[in-house]
Amino acid sequence: MSWWKKLKGKVKLKEPLKKHTTFKIGGPARFFIEPRDAQDLRRALIFLKRYRIPVFVIGAGSNLLISDRGFNGAVLRLGAPYFKQIIFKGTDLKAGAGVNLNKMVAACTKRGLSGAEFLVGIPGTVGGSLAVNAGEAKEGRSIGNLLEKVTVMDYNGDLKEIDKKDIKFRYRSSSLSRYIILDARFKLGRKKREEIEKTVNKYVAYRRASQDYSGPSAGCIFKNPRQTSAGRLIDLCGLKGKRVAGAGISLKHANFIINNAGAKSGDVLKLMGMIKRKVKNKFNVDLKPEIKIWR
Ligand SMILES: Cc1cc2nc3c(=O)[nH]c(=O)nc-3n(C[C@H](O)[C@H](O)[C@H](O)COP(=O)(O)OP(=O)(O)OC[C@H]3O[C@@H](n4cnc5c(N)ncnc54)[C@H](O)[C@@H]3O)c2cc1C
Repeated sequence: MSWWKKLKGKVKLKEPLKKHTTFKIGGPARFFIEPRDAQDLRRALIFLKRYRIPVFVIGAGSNLLISDRGFNGAVLRLGAPYFKQIIFKGTDLKAGAGVNLNKMVAACTKRGLSGAEFLVGIPGTVGGSLAVNAGEAKEGRSIGNLLEKVTVMDYNGDLKEIDKKDIKFRYRSSSLSRYIILDARFKLGRKKREEIEKTVNKYVAYRRASQDYSGPSAGCIFKNPRQTSAGRLIDLCGLKGKRVAGAGISLKHANFIINNAGAKSGDVLKLMGMIKRKVKNKFNVDLKPEIKIWR
């Protein structure tokens, strides 16, 4: 019997990854696995190790550029109900890695729990967002600031809990990215629901005003260099609206690339190369990608 038939969760073969990225770009994955629970995930990892199949974890795919060639390995997604649980205990919240951030903020708001409002509008999961330490640039807050503890699994299938003091969070990166994050515990505070709603609406309005939702994207392409924003530098190079085939630099936010019409991963990479060269020539600044690139 094929090993993947022994798993309890869903397994798809040759699954197009463009179905699982907000960029709507990405070729097929040899295996696309959604384990039923932590035990099933462990089982999958043991098989994958035994057959030397490379593994990638995907969340909502909102920070990814995946090659059109796809991935000759297994993509794991923690999308089963087991990984989407939200449990409150007083002002503590335990959220599964597969929980969507907007759902998490909505659940907190309903309970009168404050602290996570700034995450509203980020189209990621708890797991993916902790791996990249997602946040908002204006006030410099990120999801790592809220965290108390995480449960992770290593690629051998061993579980452990990690306390916040043992985790390194930096601007759009964290030491958790070498594990598979299963769930996270956050510490929140109490506030009146109307007050929380007001703050949530403020962040929604800010993101609507500054970000481009006109087509598929992966959010900001480059990290902000010190003291300035990547979008500003790209704009000052006169690159807004520049296109390579189906990929175009947003007219609204110069650090967004929009998949206007069937863009290929190569189109986005060419556009990124052009941006890097122009910004380097004009400002002597080396832009670093914020998105994760699976070549
Ligand atoms: C319109 C738009 C607006 C955005 N706005 C913002 C913003 O304001 N601020 C911001 O920070 N980002 C923003 N982003 C980018 C993106 O939404 C965030 O980075 C998000 O947190 C990524 O989460 P994800 O679940 O989609 O992760 P994915 O993109 O699926 O994965 C990102 C990385 O995390 C890893 N990963 C995923 N799940 C796990 C897991 N369970 N365990 C370990 N590693 C894992 C992946 O392997 C990958 O390396 C935006 C994107 C879009 C499209």
